[in-house]
Amino acid sequence: MWFPSERLARSGRENAINTWKSSMTMAWMVAIAACYGQEPVRVVVLDYSAAGRGKLETAAKIAQREFRLAGVQTDWHICLGTTAAQPNCGLPPGTYLQVKIVPGSEIRRSGDSMGTALCDLGKRGVLSFVFSSEVKRLAQSASRDFSVILASVMAHEVGHLLGVAHSPSGIMKEGLTARDATDAEKGHLNFSPEDAKALRAAARDMVVSATDGGH
Ligand SMILES: [Zn+2]
Repeated sequence: MWFPSERLARSGRENAINTWKSSMTMAWMVAIAACYGQEPVRVVVLDYSAAGRGKLETAAKIAQREFRLAGVQTDWHICLGTTAAQPNCGLPPGTYLQVKIVPGSEIRRSGDSMGTALCDLGKRGVLSFVFSSEVKRLAQSASRDFSVILASVMAHEVGHLLGVAHSPSGIMKEGLTARDATDAEKGHLNFSPEDAKALRAAARDMVVSATDGGH
């Protein structure tokens, strides 16, 4: 037999459970937001080296995983280059960090041998380059997969664009060796904990500056 008070108590309990459930959902969402930022860091890979969409997509997935392991959500778009300086890729509106895959290393600056980020080390930038001939050379000499090494170099250059300088170990190490290529293929070449922390802070800043009206 149901008494009104009993029904009230029951609905009160259900309300309490529902409130608890939604507060747990909120707490989880806040935790995710704190971990990843609210918006992913958008990256566009512009290929001028005829590497092929398949290899680029594989590399982008691996690079995305490396950033995810560092607590940073990234969104990668592949854009097959043409002779035009800026091919129309039909990208959704937004700000994109750019990784241009070019065949040679003519624009190489001091430091990295397989790519370059157009920003002073420790400061942020928007445009970076990866030299596919150098990536291929290491892939062949180390007998490792081209896409895996490409992913490490892309992640490294995007790391620079987010303001992270060189590190003694991990993806932000200056120069990749055959041993690093082997580690990368095993999924063991990652951002160091210190670099991951800096990346998370940079990604959070990007989200704030993208949503605060540009102040
Ligand atoms: Zn570097």
